[in-house]
Amino acid sequence: MTAFVFNEINFDNHEQVVFASEAKSGLKAIIAIHNTHLGPAMGGCRMWNYASEADAVRDVLRLSRGMTYKNAVAGLPIGGGKSVIIGDPKTEKSPALFEALGEALERLGGRYVTAEDVGTSPADMANVAAKTSYVAGLGDRGDPSPFTALGCFVGAQAAVKHRFGRDSMEGLTVALQGLGHVGYDYARRLKQAGAKLVVADIDQAALQRAQDELGAEVVDIHAIYDVNADIYAPCALGATVNADTIQRLKAKVIAGAANNQLASADLGDVLRRKEILYAPDFVINAGGIIKVCYEYLNTPEDGMDAHVRRIGETLTEIFVRADVEGMATSIIADQIAEARFKQ
Ligand code: NAD
Repeated sequence: MTAFVFNEINFDNHEQVVFASEAKSGLKAIIAIHNTHLGPAMGGCRMWNYASEADAVRDVLRLSRGMTYKNAVAGLPIGGGKSVIIGDPKTEKSPALFEALGEALERLGGRYVTAEDVGTSPADMANVAAKTSYVAGLGDRGDPSPFTALGCFVGAQAAVKHRFGRDSMEGLTVALQGLGHVGYDYARRLKQAGAKLVVADIDQAALQRAQDELGAEVVDIHAIYDVNADIYAPCALGATVNADTIQRLKAKVIAGAANNQLASADLGDVLRRKEILYAPDFVINAGGIIKVCYEYLNTPEDGMDAHVRRIGETLTEIFVRADVEGMATSIIADQIAEARFKQ
């Protein structure tokens, strides 16, 4: 176990990784604190029925490291961390389970602050909050998704300006994958700005709504990569930019909310050579964490909208640097993050 943990590519000098368990509730959690140079580590708690404990370790390390980069580029005074609970979120949840997680967080004294993520909800976080104050996004002050969608929209505007030299979305076609919490709101903003939407989802009700309300054209989930679009907006799954789809995409801009959009890091450079402008995922989708961080730190919310909108300026800086240095936008984004947190 030790050999694989320290050699894991995403271990990357994690400050602390804690295995927390509690017999009565059945808690088996891993809390990963990647870097706290900029502030307490913040990142959500995922509950997932992992095939193996090794998979859970890999996932938490990858996600935790990713939060350090996301939080640093977003200019937030927080570090990166993440937690996972091993178990089936449909059948193995209980208030006691999340209270036990709260006790584990309390023992860490605030070095890590959790929030909801895949498989957990604001109600679960309320149970965590019964035992610790190191929890954010309790649901009483709203869903972060609209802020993620706003960040994606201003990010897409910046990318369109850079790639097509246009201030307007009017008449551009967007192939949007995933009409969920973020994707639908993002689609609505794109439509308002004059874009034409071609969408795919596995949820028929979401597709019907997009047809009725946004005049969207619906395509099969496998056909979304072949759409004759200007922008590809992945808002569902990770790794949708891969060896197969990269040959099929017609879009010259990739701007979407999904995490870990590139199946492998080298694809950033492949996109650059194909003149497809990629808005790095952890930069463009930071609106939600900005919202959660403002809430947790009780930062006056009047500056929050402007903070999310700065995602557009940050992306422009990345695009310009990538051109000047002949590098992938994803690499430049990593470098900006590292310059901030590796002090
Ligand atoms: P969600 O679960 O609300 O929406 C996902 C949507 O994708 C659903 O409508 C689902 O039916 C659809 N989908 C699933 N499989 C699909 C497939 N094969 N093809 C097409 N559509 C499919 O999730 P969300 O909160 O909207 O988040 C979307 C993405 O953005 C995720 O990757 C998430 O990790 C990322 N993200 C979300 C936030 C946030 O604030 N919610 C913040 C940062 C990143």
